[in-house]
Order: sequence, then structure tokens, then C-alpha cells
Amino acid sequence: MTSIASRINQLDGADLEALRAGVSGTVVTPDHPDYDTARQILSLAFDRRPAAIVRCEGTRDVAFSVRFARDRGIPFAPRSGGHSGMGFSSVDDAIVIDLGGMKQVTIDPVERVAVVQAGTTSDDLAGPASQYGLALSTGDTGSVGIGGLTVGGGIGWMVRKYGLTIDNLLAATVVTATGEVVRASEYEHPDLFWAIRGGGSNFGIVTDFTFRLAPSGMVHGGAIVLPATREVLRGYIDYAPRAVDDLTTMAFLMAAPPAPFIPESVVGQPVLLVGAVWTGALDDIEGRDAALAPLRALATPIADTVEAIPYPVMFAYTAEGTQRHGAALRMLFADDLTDAQLDASIDAITHSTSPMSMIQFRGMGGAVSRVPSDATAFPHRDVPLFVAAIGIWVDPEDDGEAHRAWVKDLWTHLAPASRGAYVNFLQDDGEQRLPEAYLDRMERLRQVKAKYDPENVFHFNANIRPE
Ligand SMILES: Cc1cc2nc3c(=O)[nH]c(=O)nc-3n(C[C@H](O)[C@H](O)[C@H](O)COP(=O)(O)OP(=O)(O)OC[C@H]3O[C@@H](n4cnc5c(N)ncnc54)[C@H](O)[C@@H]3O)c2cc1C
Repeated sequence: MTSIASRINQLDGADLEALRAGVSGTVVTPDHPDYDTARQILSLAFDRRPAAIVRCEGTRDVAFSVRFARDRGIPFAPRSGGHSGMGFSSVDDAIVIDLGGMKQVTIDPVERVAVVQAGTTSDDLAGPASQYGLALSTGDTGSVGIGGLTVGGGIGWMVRKYGLTIDNLLAATVVTATGEVVRASEYEHPDLFWAIRGGGSNFGIVTDFTFRLAPSGMVHGGAIVLPATREVLRGYIDYAPRAVDDLTTMAFLMAAPPAPFIPESVVGQPVLLVGAVWTGALDDIEGRDAALAPLRALATPIADTVEAIPYPVMFAYTAEGTQRHGAALRMLFADDLTDAQLDASIDAITHSTSPMSMIQFRGMGGAVSRVPSDATAFPHRDVPLFVAAIGIWVDPEDDGEAHRAWVKDLWTHLAPASRGAYVNFLQDDGEQRLPEAYLDRMERLRQVKAKYDPENVFHFNANIRPE
């Protein structure tokens, strides 16, 4: 039997010509001047050398690449925004099917529907949508790819009002494991449509998504920066999941960054930076202030920048996340945290190994919790809190070990609170926490996997094995 390595080497010959001839996009191999750029993803922690990167220009290129790789037994991995923390979208000796250039966005402002190619980022979509007074509930960072974000769920700045990204998905075009192109919706391949809403990239490569948009192109948004005390943290986690739906917040326990709105004397001190988006009527300042009052009352704010903004401006608060960096990450969904866990979090951030590291607390609830539990593959509908410890480094020479140890140490305190995990944040402890990510829907996901990908060709992911 020919080894995978020798099959990949065949790419140097006639097969490579066949691949190039079969797609409209560019095929970047190690001899190509763009190879070192094309093989990179956001994370600094991976220095992988794919056999080829196919820069797809459309669904046809994706389908051809899948068939090409499958016929030759060559492993392949899709990539959209390249933000996989596990390096799943740049794999040694595999063919990377890169949808990053597929960024077409078509908005119907009357029907409030957008058809979005998978390489579009949250930023790419938010700008044009905002110009029509519309928005999609995506993540917290503008550069994350809609492709990877959506198939995992999508939890961001509007989640309490408009639900997860998948809760706004009407249909998708999917290239299956055999290279067939199918439509997935409530009416076509409904089992596949169920699975791609939270089941990750196990079932096919989505080339475009049809989303319902929300009438929130302008919002009141900004940051309320508070001192990092146990009382403030307690007040935040008690209030955030129970606020009115129009208020979505994420709190970052971190060393105060050198941002223009942070007094110089506070930079470097531990703070709780609460990012807030109010989606109520723009002129309802009273309603907005009533929603924000419990946060503002937790302590005298160090800074408060909440004001009317175009929604895409919110991504400026997480812009550092768009620079290449390494990240150690562990997350949990929780009902509550004990005082000891809050103290451990403050202690950890006070002694963190990097000024960029953070512990995120996000209030869930609202619209997320009103979608019927079995409607999608995402099972954590009733959970109030999302907590993530993230150790971050930016020096390419840093091996990340100190930051991984920092996260692991904090995790010994936080882990007992876990009642679930989010597949898009599974990382350092990935594989063994898959059952926590899917809870009671593992069985059904395995059945859909067995139907659409019985040979598990889509396995560079949080992998659901066929039944
Ligand atoms: C800085 C940062 C901030 C983040 N913030 C949030 C947040 O606020 N909320 C949130 O929910 N998540 C967040 N995430 C997690 C993010 O949603 C996941 O990492 C997501 O998988 C990234 O998608 P991508 O397309 O950018 O990445 P890629 O690396 O391209 O892909 C990630 C995974 O998805 C698969 N995949 C990619 N494209 C497709 C496709 N078209 N069809 C099927 N499978 C595909 C890949 O094979 C890979 O397994 C964040 C990540 C980072 C790095």
C-alpha cells in the first residue's frame, strides 16, 4: 500500500497539474513565494507545513479539492478565518482548502437576509450590514471567520438579544465528504442542518451561509472599567445573565491596557473591563441607563465609554486579538462561582505571566435560553455563565509553557464549577472534554456523522467519530 507521504509527494508531478487545472484559485506549494504566508494561521503556536494550500474562489473549487484529495487518500483541512486555537486549519503534509478569499456578502435589506461566503469575517460583514441598519450576532473579535465560528455556535456581543450565530442561520451550502454540493436548511437535509449548527466542522465544508439579520446597525456600546475586587466580580456575574435581553456584556479580568480611555496611573493594574452592548431603541437613553445602572453601581467606574456607535466599532475593543499571538485556553460553562474561585481569579490575574492574559466572564441567558434545547446541536441553552482563562503571548520565540502552566493552575480552582464546554473554545484540554461540549447529543451527532462522513475524512477538528 502506498504511504500517505509518498502519495503527497506525487503532488510534485502530474497530480499537481491536475489540481491546478481543476480549480480557479491559486494552489500554493512549498516552492511558491507566498507559501510561508499562506501556511500561517493566527496562532503563533503552530508552524505547520501543508503539502499545498488551495486558495479557493468558490464552491466549485472547494468541491473539486475535496474530490481530488479523497481520490488520492490525501488528508485535507478546511480553513476560513484561520483562528483555530488548535491549529486545525494548517496541517503538516495535508491539503489546506482555504476559503479565506471567499468573502462575498449579499444583503437584502428589505427581507433582512444576508448570504455570506464562509471566508467572510465578523468585521467584513458588520460594516456593510451596519450601513443598512442591520447586524448579525457573531463573536467578540472582528477577524474571526464566519466559517469556523458559525459551525461551532457563535457567542458574541448581541447574544442575549439575538441568540447565537446559529440561531440566525436559515440555510447553508455544504460540500460533503464525497465532494457533493448540497443545501442544508429546515427543509433540505434537515439532519445535516441540525448538526452544522453547533456540531463543528465534522460534517462538511460550508461554503456560504444564509442569515437572518437583526435591526441593530447602531447600538449603544462601550466599556465600563471597574476595580478588580471580589465584590465587583460577584456583582457582575450575578447581574450579567439576568439583565434585560437588550443588554449583552462580557467582562475581561485583566491588567488595564494602555487604551486612550484608561488613566495612565491605572495601566497595568488589575481591572474588570466590562464590554457592553445595548440593543434597545437608540433614543431610549433612560432604558439604557437603567440597564447599566447595576454595573455602574458596583464601584466608581475608572472609565465609562458607553455611547451610540455603529455596531462594528465594538470590535475595536478586542482589536488586539486580531494580531498573531499564541494562546493557552480553558473554558467552562457554570451556574455560579464561589468566592474562593473569584479570589483565585483575581490572584491569578495579579500574578499572570503576561500583561495580555485575561479571564473572561460572559453573561449568557436571554434569547439563547429560549431556543428549544433540541433545535440545534448546541446543548448549553440554560447556562448563565461562560468563563474562560486565556494566557496570551506575542513573542514568536516564546514556547508558551509558562502561560499554559498559568492557565492550568487557575483551572484547578475553576474546574469544579464546570457544567459544560463550548466547542469553539476547546483547546488545551480539547479531546477529553468533547463529551462536556455535546452532553446528551453526542449519540445523534455520531449518527449524522456516520451518514455524511462515515470514513471520518473531516477529522482535523474537535472530532466526532462516526457511530
Ligand atoms: C481572538 C479570538 C477571539 C474569539 N472570540 C470568539 C467569540 O467571541 N465567540 C465565539 O463563539 N468564538 C470565538 N472565538 C473562537 C472561534 O469561533 C473559533 O476559533 C472558530 O473555529 C474560528 O473560525 P475560523 O474560521 O476563523 O478558523 P479556522 O482556523 O479557519 O477554522 C477553525 C475550525 O473550523 C473549521 N472550518 C473552518 N471553516 C470551515 C467551513 N467553512 N466549514 C466547515 N468547517 C470549517 C476548520 O477546519 C477548523 O477545524 C475566538 C477565537 C479567537 C482566536
